[in-house]
Amino acid sequence: MPIKKHNFGAGPCILPDTVLTRAADAVKGWGTTGLSLLEISHRSTEFEFVVKETEKLVRELLAVPDTYSVLFLQGGASLQFAMVPMNFLGKMKKAAYLDAGYFGQKAIKEAGISGDVVVVASSKEKAYSYIPKDYAIPQDAAYFHITSNNTIEGTELFHFPKSPVPLICDMSSDIFSRVIDITAFDLVYAGAQKNMGPAGMTLVIAKNSFLDSVKNKVNAILDYRVYRENGSMYNTPPVFAIYTAMLNLQWLKSKGGVKVIQTENLAKAQLLYDEIDSNPLFYGLAERQDRSLMNVTFRMHAPAAEAGFIEFAAKQGMVGIRGYRTVGGFRASLYNALPYDSVKALVDCMKAYARILHVDLIPAY
Ligand SMILES: *Cc1c(COP(=O)(O)O)cnc(C)c1O
Repeated sequence: MPIKKHNFGAGPCILPDTVLTRAADAVKGWGTTGLSLLEISHRSTEFEFVVKETEKLVRELLAVPDTYSVLFLQGGASLQFAMVPMNFLGKMKKAAYLDAGYFGQKAIKEAGISGDVVVVASSKEKAYSYIPKDYAIPQDAAYFHITSNNTIEGTELFHFPKSPVPLICDMSSDIFSRVIDITAFDLVYAGAQKNMGPAGMTLVIAKNSFLDSVKNKVNAILDYRVYRENGSMYNTPPVFAIYTAMLNLQWLKSKGGVKVIQTENLAKAQLLYDEIDSNPLFYGLAERQDRSLMNVTFRMHAPAAEAGFIEFAAKQGMVGIRGYRTVGGFRASLYNALPYDSVKALVDCMKAYARILHVDLIPAY
């Protein structure tokens, strides 16, 4: 059945039609193997090629130098909330965190189990509507942790801090959406299902010297170095998720790479923010200079009319625009594979709804 909806869902993300078709084909029968992709041994030469190819694409698209390892794990970004402190934070040490959103807060909570946490700044008191910018990072922290894009609140970091200690970044919801300098970070992680592929795989890019610095004793399955030593195959990797991510990265490469998609993403976000700012029904939730290009959060001045808009938009084929339950209102996620035309369709819906409400508001004489 062909896909006909405009998918603004925050994750799992929209994937290109060609990627879905090829992934589905491989499930039915993969290449010349005579097997389904789901049945193939992860130790087969065919699948070993897939892992190598996916790593190659990650390195190429993000310009990852040889001094960094590219690893494929499971457990989502949430496991990284725990794994980062398990590896890099000891009981006698402290780690610094920026508290700029729901997921950053979860990371802080997990780190607190492994050691001391210093929150350098927080925008919690303003419902995480902006990214704190003036703060000092303690020189004796084991690392400094940030989130590049706050998926739920709709804010994004456009200037990464200069850190005197190793910099770790949760890039789950904006990796591959814009050009970044990987060498500014010591470790980057991302759950795949926001911009990279299906759920089940987590990408970790880590500076080798940072991994070598680990002194903590960690269980093998939670030890980054074990994944590095085993080429991400310490245990059975998420075969289907890695394969589909590979297809998606091939698609991104064929489009011209991250720089090209960044321009498209900018145009999509601009179109939607312009409508939010000019349509009298709506207003944006994030402070302008921190507005996310991936997750656009907005509300109506008349909250009672919001449910009606979701219903109205659903009739025009829009799905996934309801805001996160703690935020309310709307969130439109504009991940890489979302076509410009889908944003155009949403904007048309917003214009049409304004006309309808206006008509309804005209008093009957
Ligand atoms: C979705 C998300 C997470 C959680 O990811 P899981 O893979 O579900 O664990 C963490 N951080 C950010 C920024 C996210 O968008």
